[in-house]
Amino acid sequence: MQSHPPAMFIADSLGLDFINSIATPVDTPVDWIADGGGLLRWLAQAKLVPSGVLDELAARAQPGELDDVAGQARDLREWFRGFVRKHRGTPLAPRALRELEPLNRLLASDQAFSRIVPHRHDDHDGFALERTRRWRSAETLLLPIGEAMARVVCEESFSDIKACEGPACTLMFADHTRARARRWCSMAICGNRAKQAAHRSRIKDRGA
Ligand SMILES: [Zn+2]
Repeated sequence: MQSHPPAMFIADSLGLDFINSIATPVDTPVDWIADGGGLLRWLAQAKLVPSGVLDELAARAQPGELDDVAGQARDLREWFRGFVRKHRGTPLAPRALRELEPLNRLLASDQAFSRIVPHRHDDHDGFALERTRRWRSAETLLLPIGEAMARVVCEESFSDIKACEGPACTLMFADHTRARARRWCSMAICGNRAKQAAHRSRIKDRGA
């Protein structure tokens, strides 16, 4: 049986976590959305699609359909990686909007709507207005991903989007620390490696 390591959510921004859904956490590269099953697992872990919807779309999908959608998701991911790499480090300029055309096209295909649902608050039964969409086909699984990417564009400061300083690391994140001093994808992965490397070089210096 194939094992699936849990996806990484270290970016402090889901749209960037989506870019990080292919990475090399230890020695071997892992693509969490290598196929349709992987896409469903990533979306569930990202909590971007309700599990009931994922089950229903999986049951309804034609053979190969989910794998095709996973392929589209990977294309989207690489397109967005290029966009973020190009623009990160400085505030996003208004002219970048032209480059976002593919993302706006995806968002325009959304059949989103609001509905009233039961909602309990302050110990009494009431209602809430809930935003949802028509999940017409497996392809609609790309829509919450598109929204997460659009949030990166609209809500994150591109000056604070960073690449991990780990030499072989490809992970990106939004630095929300007060001093904007975050350097690593995570202390457990690259932060520790850097600490150990610094320690080794201190020992070497002392020995020399
Ligand atoms: Zn890293």
